[in-house]
Amino acid sequence: MLFALAPIALSAGGGYVLLNHGVIAPFQDVAERQRDQIAPAQNLRLLIWDSLIPVDEYLQDSDPVHTDTYRNIRGQVEVAFSELISALDGTPQARGLVERARDNWTVADQHATELLSVVGLPGDRHVIETQQRFHGSVVTTTDLLAATYTQISQAIMDDHDMVNRSYERSMWLAGIAGGLSLLSIAFGVVMIGRVLSQSVDRLVDGAIRFADGDRLHRINVSVPPELHRVAVEFNLMIGRIQASEEALAELALQDSLTGLANRRAFDGALDDMWSRHQRFGEPGALLAIDLDHFKQVNDTYGHAAGDEVLRSVASVMRHCLRPSDKVFRVGGEEFSVLLPRTGLSQAHETAERLRRAIGAKAVQSNGNIITPTASIGLAVMSSDVDQSAFVARADTALYEAKRSGRNRLVINHGKGIALAV
Ligand code: GH3
Ligand code: MG
Ligand code: MG
Repeated sequence: MLFALAPIALSAGGGYVLLNHGVIAPFQDVAERQRDQIAPAQNLRLLIWDSLIPVDEYLQDSDPVHTDTYRNIRGQVEVAFSELISALDGTPQARGLVERARDNWTVADQHATELLSVVGLPGDRHVIETQQRFHGSVVTTTDLLAATYTQISQAIMDDHDMVNRSYERSMWLAGIAGGLSLLSIAFGVVMIGRVLSQSVDRLVDGAIRFADGDRLHRINVSVPPELHRVAVEFNLMIGRIQASEEALAELALQDSLTGLANRRAFDGALDDMWSRHQRFGEPGALLAIDLDHFKQVNDTYGHAAGDEVLRSVASVMRHCLRPSDKVFRVGGEEFSVLLPRTGLSQAHETAERLRRAIGAKAVQSNGNIITPTASIGLAVMSSDVDQSAFVARADTALYEAKRSGRNRLVINHGKGIALAV
């Protein structure tokens, strides 16, 4: 916009200066010359010609009325000379010519004064010569005034030429400025188009990436401001969607009743522990835990009391384990515990501690005291089994714990099942 308007503003300024100095000022000059110089110079010439008549007529009829007429003309001539000389202050050449004309007029006037004082001698040789000199001086005076007129006219012609040139220049200036403005506007339109299409491309690219699942990409659009606002809103929206997706993902791995990780989380964590065992030979153990006679708890005290017991057992297990150990609710009243980097004896110790802690925490519900117990099957990872056989070993140990009386820990060594003591 600035580039488009600058040439127009410059041409307006330049055009104003050109018109003011090159057209208006010379025109004023011409008008002033016309009024103060040309017209007075012409009038003066006529007056001087007129001065011949009363003098010549006087010489013919000696009527004193011609003397008065001449004096009247002379008075007007003198005033006209002094006005013209002061009007020509700025043009010394023309002024010099008028001053010379006035000198000649002074001589002519002297001859006229002498002729007007002659009484009744029309054929006198001296009078005729004086009359001739008078005529000669008048002609010289009017010639000089004619030269002055020519000079002033030349100055007027010069002014006129200058006006024409200035007018032409200002037309050129306006044309060039108009052309430059059009170019700037065309350039601006192209640039705006490019910027707009780049910004729209970025928005579209960001939307495609988002649709493809890229939640880390942010759209960077700074112009125009409207699209910048769209990009900012879009980025905020992506941020909000990312946060809610993360929260949902977390919820998808969590059991809502106890707050423990759920079976899906267990499957992932088990895969991790197993692959670390495979790659680095890291030891690790699995506890399969099932609450004993839980159906009876529900049947005797109600489902809500059963829920209370489940929450209490979950809390006991959380507090009983190290931060690196992980506990999961994998079924109704079934739990799994993963003990990464843990060997058999330490796992045995932990499982036994866990079993005792569960049995030691009585739950109060509706004035009833419920003391849950748990059966636990324990297996440790080893190279002679695959992942599912490892899980099956823990399940078999749990089954054996149930079968052999419940509220106990059974260890599956692989070679045989042993009741832990
Ligand atoms: P066992 O000692 O052989 O394990 O006997 P059990 O009664 O614990 O086993 P069973 O499989 O017969 O019953 C499990 C019960 O757990 C049945 C079901 O009503 C209850 N249960 C499962 N999920 C929930 C739950 O979320 N809340 C409550 N309150 N009870 C649940
Ligand atoms: Mg069960
Ligand atoms: Mg049970």
